[in-house]
Amino acid sequence: MSKTEFEFTDDVKYLKGVGPTKAKSLSKINISNMYDLLTHYPRAYEDWSNITPIINLLDNESVVIVGTLSRPEKIITRTGLTIIKATLDDGTGKISLNWFNQDYLMTKLREGMRLVVIGKVKVEGLFGNATMSQIKSFSILDEGEVPQLGVMPIYPSTGTLTQGFFRTAIKNLLNKMPTLKEILPQDLLDELQLISLDTAARAIHFPADRIQLDEARRRLAFDELFLIQCGLMMIKRQATEESLGVAHKKNGNLVKQVLEGLPFKLTKDQKKTFAAVAKDMESETPMRRLIQGDVGSGKTAVAMLALVKAVENGYQGAFMAPTEILAAQHYEKFSKQLTGLGIRIGLLSSKVTASKKKKEEIYKKIAEHEVDILIGTHAIIQEGVTFANLGLVVTDEQHRFGVSQRSSLEKKSAILPDMLVMTATPIPRTMVLTVYGDLDVSLIKELPPGRKPVQTFVRGVKSREKVYSFVHDEILKGRQAYVVCPLIERSESEKLSNVDPATEMYEMFRLGTFRDVNCALLHGKMKPREKDEIMEKFRAGEIDLLVSTTVVEVGVDVPNATVMVVENAERFGLAQLHQLRGRVGRGAESSYCILISDGKAEHSKERLNAMKTISDGFKLADIDLKLRGPGQFFGEAQHGLPDLKIADVFRDVEILVAANDAAKKFIDDEKKLEYFAALKKNLALAYGDKFQQITEA
Ligand code: ADP
Ligand code: MG
Repeated sequence: MSKTEFEFTDDVKYLKGVGPTKAKSLSKINISNMYDLLTHYPRAYEDWSNITPIINLLDNESVVIVGTLSRPEKIITRTGLTIIKATLDDGTGKISLNWFNQDYLMTKLREGMRLVVIGKVKVEGLFGNATMSQIKSFSILDEGEVPQLGVMPIYPSTGTLTQGFFRTAIKNLLNKMPTLKEILPQDLLDELQLISLDTAARAIHFPADRIQLDEARRRLAFDELFLIQCGLMMIKRQATEESLGVAHKKNGNLVKQVLEGLPFKLTKDQKKTFAAVAKDMESETPMRRLIQGDVGSGKTAVAMLALVKAVENGYQGAFMAPTEILAAQHYEKFSKQLTGLGIRIGLLSSKVTASKKKKEEIYKKIAEHEVDILIGTHAIIQEGVTFANLGLVVTDEQHRFGVSQRSSLEKKSAILPDMLVMTATPIPRTMVLTVYGDLDVSLIKELPPGRKPVQTFVRGVKSREKVYSFVHDEILKGRQAYVVCPLIERSESEKLSNVDPATEMYEMFRLGTFRDVNCALLHGKMKPREKDEIMEKFRAGEIDLLVSTTVVEVGVDVPNATVMVVENAERFGLAQLHQLRGRVGRGAESSYCILISDGKAEHSKERLNAMKTISDGFKLADIDLKLRGPGQFFGEAQHGLPDLKIADVFRDVEILVAANDAAKKFIDDEKKLEYFAALKKNLALAYGDKFQQITEA
């Protein structure tokens, strides 16, 4: 293959030094083509610019040395310490190496291996015997590999793939790869002082020095965020500007009547949000709006008004909830408020669709406009559901649905319906840009009046009995309580850990502390019908104590529940704990959230303590992001976008904002059209079918 024939989509197995066997191992870490390998970025770097000959070593110096290893020996000291001992010889001299308590090295280190070792040296005695007992890191060189001077990349790896393999393979790739064409316009590069793509793509692997490494990282992080921003904006543009939406222009009496019928007055934020939604709905451009608001801030009330507005204009509305329980709950509430005004509410859930007759019945009603507002779960986006006249789609807790599911709903109708997305996950502002770059955002910060803050405590496992006797007292007072556990059952790998799964806790309670009250177990492996039944009983007050997994996390409303206990609380994210806490404090009584944890790690304590003093979900999310990083905060499954390979939305806030600004300008600038083909190609390379709609358009 000549250089000009190089394609990023070529299989890695054709690369010199890779071959079919190594390619198979690479596929296990999602590297299948040249692009994947090029963007397999180092996880760290070691500075090998100054290799010191062993004969020149001085006492107390931190150095990099390269040499051949002698046979390693394992020694056990009288105090039970194990030491792996070996010497390293570089031809100028020898040094003894000591590794403490790292038995596994016996299987890794072998006589004759060549090693690059970084650490601090001791030189003692008459003959200047050198030893290194503080070994910071070491790399095994592949046979025949010559250590390069300079900043060396350390790659994320698995099993049999060595660092030497990655270095060689990527070096071969860089040699074979033609000079990369610039994908960003020169004026943008100048403005943001970004280095060229070609330089960055090479320097991220083998930088000349730290400065060039920083420049490369900055350029590639910008590209990554810019690409996602452009992709999301293109989706939005396709969905809005290029197609006609529904103009819900009429302002009749129905919304007014519903407002008057509400048992409360809207808060200022609710009013502001509904005004923004109404304005979007009245316009012919399809609405794409996200309502972000803490649990219980009254998002559903705003959604209901929007749906009524659609009905008032002669359209149908759809409301998609993440669980059956929630769909049923919304159905009940909506029916109570709206049926009296002649609005027909329908429920489509797996319970309904399980019966062929009922399913056909409701499908027919939807198709013939005998249902005005349809409430349901994923079932709403299934094949076969056809609306007569869909004007608005509301998605509740949307972070559980990906971008692709959002768009499959849009395809349900010939004209594009307005789309409103609600989330109670307090997504930090910087994340909103990456995850929801295609949506306008409204924020409901203020809670309805009269809410009592939930008192939060953090307790060690030792205090458990006290905690549960407190819970028992609350139940005797007529309240209900939740106990949430991180797991359903104990898996093989958790056999010895100190985690307490829901099933075991439930058995313990039922036979112990809570034998005189009604306990129930609820978890994700149960059948939807069983789950519904239990949740229904809990709502009706027939169950006092509900032991569950995080299935209760979203939106369930039981005002009489006043205690939320979370076991192994260190295993949950703060945003998630905040959601769980939001399950209580919904009624008139004082409520409590008790986090039980023996998490010893310093930052896990710090995290949990933040829950005691902070009740603002956004602040908690920021802390979580800072302490745990974005990967933990949002798994791929949740936001529907792959994890970022190089950018870090927390550290790179400035780059993110710059990328967002640049993308906005870029998308609107006709003169930039020539760059679009390259952009789409890169989106396809980087994200595959995640952006399929635009890359195939
Ligand atoms: P969210 O969907 O944001 O979790 P909901 O809309 O379900 O919140 O509201 C939570 C509770 O607060 C409901 O019981 C609702 O009736 C009530 N509520 C909503 N808005 C107000 C308000 N402005 N004043 C008083 N109570 C309200
Ligand atoms: Mg809700």
